[in-house]
Amino acid sequence: MPYKTFGFTEEQILMRDSVLGLLERVLPPEKISAQDKASEYPHESFKALADAGWLTLPFDEAYGGMGAGYKDFAVFIEALGYHYPGIRTAYMTTVVYGGLYIQNLGSEALKQEFLPPIMKGERRMAVAMTEPQSGSDVAGIRLRATRDGDGYVLNGQKVYITNAHESDYLVVAVKTDPEAGRKGISLVIVDTTDPGFEARPMDPLGSRSTLLNEVFFDDVRVPASRLLGEENGGWKGLMQGLNLERILIAAAASGQCLKIIEIAKQFVEDRKAFGKRIADFQAVAHKFAEMAMMTETARLHTYSTAEMLDAGEDAIQETAMAKVVATENNFKVADLGVHIMGAAGYVQGDMQRLFRDARLGTIGGGTSDILRNVIAQRMEL
Ligand SMILES: Cc1cc2nc3c(=O)[nH]c(=O)nc-3n(C[C@H](O)[C@H](O)[C@H](O)COP(=O)(O)OP(=O)(O)OC[C@H]3O[C@@H](n4cnc5c(N)ncnc54)[C@H](O)[C@@H]3O)c2cc1C
Repeated sequence: MPYKTFGFTEEQILMRDSVLGLLERVLPPEKISAQDKASEYPHESFKALADAGWLTLPFDEAYGGMGAGYKDFAVFIEALGYHYPGIRTAYMTTVVYGGLYIQNLGSEALKQEFLPPIMKGERRMAVAMTEPQSGSDVAGIRLRATRDGDGYVLNGQKVYITNAHESDYLVVAVKTDPEAGRKGISLVIVDTTDPGFEARPMDPLGSRSTLLNEVFFDDVRVPASRLLGEENGGWKGLMQGLNLERILIAAAASGQCLKIIEIAKQFVEDRKAFGKRIADFQAVAHKFAEMAMMTETARLHTYSTAEMLDAGEDAIQETAMAKVVATENNFKVADLGVHIMGAAGYVQGDMQRLFRDARLGTIGGGTSDILRNVIAQRMEL
């Protein structure tokens, strides 16, 4: 399927070509397979992206960033998702979930301390909100930060934290006022080498080169200077990043759809049954039509919403829709991809990996149910 560009600028097309060229060199298919099998973080390709300056993309020019807009960033993340969801996740945990929280909420001193090493790929980050007793219900978190002199002492647990085991620092959502629900949440930056901090990697279905973790905090001390924004003002900060996170997850899912179609297409052109190419069976060809329509719908939602955000509209309903449509379509496209390839799609290989990786999309970053709640609320129901 030829790559449609939905009105991309020449710079956006060049950016896509350039980052894909780089990833093809440093992260060929054999390496992707090996990293997925070994649950290995994509160190080399993350460094290559950093060395080429791509980690600066969304940061303000005042801090040495490129100041990319929403559509620029969506084009870039779609390309990473297309090449390998593992490098997309490695990029996003540091740059979006770590770095942009600091740029949006941090003091000037924190920005000066953190943004340069983040942009050079020398400081890896992750974000920790989810707890064993509270995932979708973020306001219900319990991890306690108790004020103690010029800082806080953290006690409690987080869970499912992507790349916590590979991160130098974590942005952690804590309760500074346990009685105040969402008004008692604060965000702090935790040094993962501090005493009392422990991350234990878990064993997930997919996304295996960016593992999630159980994270334990046992009297972990955090200086007050590492508070992001106001004490008890963390909820607003968490909500602020959501539009961007959701549109980028939609873009990544769109990229994964494109790759699945490409792999399936190559397969049906070679594979023969009953004396002809399986591509010549209408039942198979129609599945490609379905996959193409679902991919196009995902991309249309993604890029039209990115344009709205670039134009300054709040687009909360549209980013929720884009994430639901793109991630649900990604899983359906992956399911068709496996079916089209028969057993070859079911055994170890790129299609099977893309099927496993696609399952996360409708859970992380707000489940499809929670986002349907958002969409319905915006309809004043
Ligand atoms: C691979 C992976 C990586 C992750 N990375 C991170 C990370 O880096 N940092 C982090 O903080 N978290 C991370 N998470 C956690 C993720 O954000 C949560 O899994 C997600 O928010 C859902 O929470 P939960 O799993 O506790 O499900 P629950 O909230 O327990 O929900 C269970 C089910 O109930 C449904 N449900 C719950 N409430 C409602 C409602 N009000 N209306 C309708 N349905 C509802 C949900 O849709 C879901 O189907 C990750 C998760 C995964 C799988």
